[in-house]
Amino acid sequence: MRLTRFVEFGRKIVCLGKNYGKHAAEMGGKVPDKPMIFLKPATAYVTEGNPIKVPVGCQQLHHEVELGVIIGRKGFNISESEAMDYVGGYAVTLDMTARDWQDLAKKEGTPWSLAKGFDTSCPVGNFIPKESIADPNALQLWCKVNGVMRQNASTSDMVFKIPQIISYISKYFTLESGDLILTGTPSGVGSVNPGDTIEVGLGDLSKVSFQIETQQ
Ligand code: MG
Repeated sequence: MRLTRFVEFGRKIVCLGKNYGKHAAEMGGKVPDKPMIFLKPATAYVTEGNPIKVPVGCQQLHHEVELGVIIGRKGFNISESEAMDYVGGYAVTLDMTARDWQDLAKKEGTPWSLAKGFDTSCPVGNFIPKESIADPNALQLWCKVNGVMRQNASTSDMVFKIPQIISYISKYFTLESGDLILTGTPSGVGSVNPGDTIEVGLGDLSKVSFQIETQQ
């Protein structure tokens, strides 16, 4: 099935910020009244067997485990009631974040593009067909660093649910087959350093691990 190779042909990665109340609080903010959107370029993808690289000059690289939604067909201005028809599948994903750069960008009011979009900032696990997940709003989402649990939550805690997210994004961006949506991270984000191993999963349905390396 073509969608299993979404990383090779998907043209955009659309991400939500602050979609879990506890994470918004740990970042010193609150949940916005509408989805807060940012983008990563498709060059940010990294798949199993390849390392996550700390971008040059970053002093604080953070992990954010997230449920990824892969779009199965093209749509614009999609209604919430039809939104799930546009989902092709899911994947466990990481929104790797240069937190020091993001903090500076927030202070200066400048874009997050470097902090969130550098090469290897979007590690992904295997494609999971939509039919394999009965309720994407009741999945365990977890992240371990060197075997120690850092993030462990349920997607039921998402503020904006998948139909709302797809409907909102598609008012502005045409969604196409192979596009990926990162639905936000739960609390427990933290630093990783070169030499660390990060492992993320969706319950015991899917898991993937990555080594952290210094950029050569
Ligand atoms: Mg995130």
